[in-house]
Amino acid sequence: SKGAALVTAVAQRLASRKRQVDETLAPFKLSQEQLQLVKATMRAGLEAGLKNKGPSAVKMLPSYVYHTPDGTERGKYLALDLGGTNFRAMLVKFKKGLQNNTRLYHKIYTVPLEIMQGTGEELFDHLAQYVSDFLDYMGMKKAHLPAGFTFSFPCEQTAIDTGILVSWTKGFKATDCEGHDVVNLLREAIKRRNEYDLDIVAVVNDTVGTMMSCAYEDPQCEVGLIAGTGSNACYMEELKNIEKIRQKKQKTEGDEETPEAVEDKDDGSKGDKKAETSETSKMCINTEWGGLGDDGSLDDIITPFDAEVDHNSVNPGKQRFEKLTSGMYLGEIVREVLLDLTRGGLLFRGRVTETLKTPGIFQTKYLSQIESDRLALLQVRSILQHLGLDSTCDDSIIVKEVCGAVSRRAAELCGAGMAAVVDKIRENRGLDHLNITVGVDGALYKLHPHFSGVLQETTRVLAPQCNVTFLPSEEGSGKGAALITAVARQKRDR
Ligand code: BGC
Ligand code: MG
Repeated sequence: SKGAALVTAVAQRLASRKRQVDETLAPFKLSQEQLQLVKATMRAGLEAGLKNKGPSAVKMLPSYVYHTPDGTERGKYLALDLGGTNFRAMLVKFKKGLQNNTRLYHKIYTVPLEIMQGTGEELFDHLAQYVSDFLDYMGMKKAHLPAGFTFSFPCEQTAIDTGILVSWTKGFKATDCEGHDVVNLLREAIKRRNEYDLDIVAVVNDTVGTMMSCAYEDPQCEVGLIAGTGSNACYMEELKNIEKIRQKKQKTEGDEETPEAVEDKDDGSKGDKKAETSETSKMCINTEWGGLGDDGSLDDIITPFDAEVDHNSVNPGKQRFEKLTSGMYLGEIVREVLLDLTRGGLLFRGRVTETLKTPGIFQTKYLSQIESDRLALLQVRSILQHLGLDSTCDDSIIVKEVCGAVSRRAAELCGAGMAAVVDKIRENRGLDHLNITVGVDGALYKLHPHFSGVLQETTRVLAPQCNVTFLPSEEGSGKGAALITAVARQKRDR
């Protein structure tokens, strides 16, 4: 009959539409073998970065943080945190003998886009003004507080209180900052105001701050992970493996910042210093794993959609791993796929609207909502509607599938990276089995309904000899910076 023929035709059209969508999404579905390869690539990147052979895709930046906290940290500190989108100023107080009695006051400031991408002087003047506002708010303008500066970009450090910006990442591109010491830039901006004094004691990557704050609660925490606007990890590495620091030590004999441990290992004669040696034999390394692939090593898994997102970014060719794994880019990858499907007539009735052509419409929070299992398809449609996208029920199914494929791949890649890091730590220690905790922060980890689960599962499968516990940090990077400041100041004032 006519009716039956129509039903068959519709079913066939749907089946063919589904096949075409599957085909488009196929490159996002990584096999076990591919993930093993990413783990191996990351491992090779970590090793290459520790060598002293000039720039490498994975930068492996020394942090000059030698210890996780031991609970003896005391006092009042200011923590300043320039992250992906916000600036946070915090006052952190550590009370005597009470590990959990940390008091924290903070204020968040949104850094306007034109400031993120204006001149360096304007950017740091803005930061100094936020600090001024916060000190007013706390009534502490005259306090001359010790401060830790969490600066969530790659910095080449030669001491705990100097950090030369290697390159901006995420949405930042303020001029005249790259190649400069960001602590100095902030000090100069504060001097220009001539209004309050700060003693900036430490500059800290957000991964390192996160690791430190979690280690304050759990001594097994020796890794820090950020899955947010950007993507990065840090971990405690053996000093003897950090060739960059060993070579510097030989050149600048007597440099205070380099512990004796390095020397001791070489001559092995200072018997009575052994206890101290084992204590100061590590340093936290900020891996900057987001740069993996900048040398082409990930080209096999990079899809044309990823290439397009990279091409349209402020730093084409850079941070290729970050662009597959972090919140700032996932929504853009989704949008590129949706554009392609729409052009192919498979979505939104084939109509490419201005909305769909607008960069940045799919923020992490929308991806998280769309992928929430508790959400009925009707609600997915209403989110799309809210974004200005008119969808049918079938459209909403496809959109959800696209989001799922992109975020699952991100979590799997992050897990492959993490597996490389924890296995390296395990091998460093000559262990068959390692129990370790990873301190984590970032909206993708904390807000996305599936990211953390897939990340954990992938890490477990790819590093079967490690038992990895992921510990979400609370007020992580700020509290961590305060802890690092406390230790650095004790050391300096001794
Ligand atoms: C930066 C890292 C940072 C990460 C997470 C990346 O873009 O290069 O330094 O840790 O974002 O904020
Ligand atoms: Mg942050």
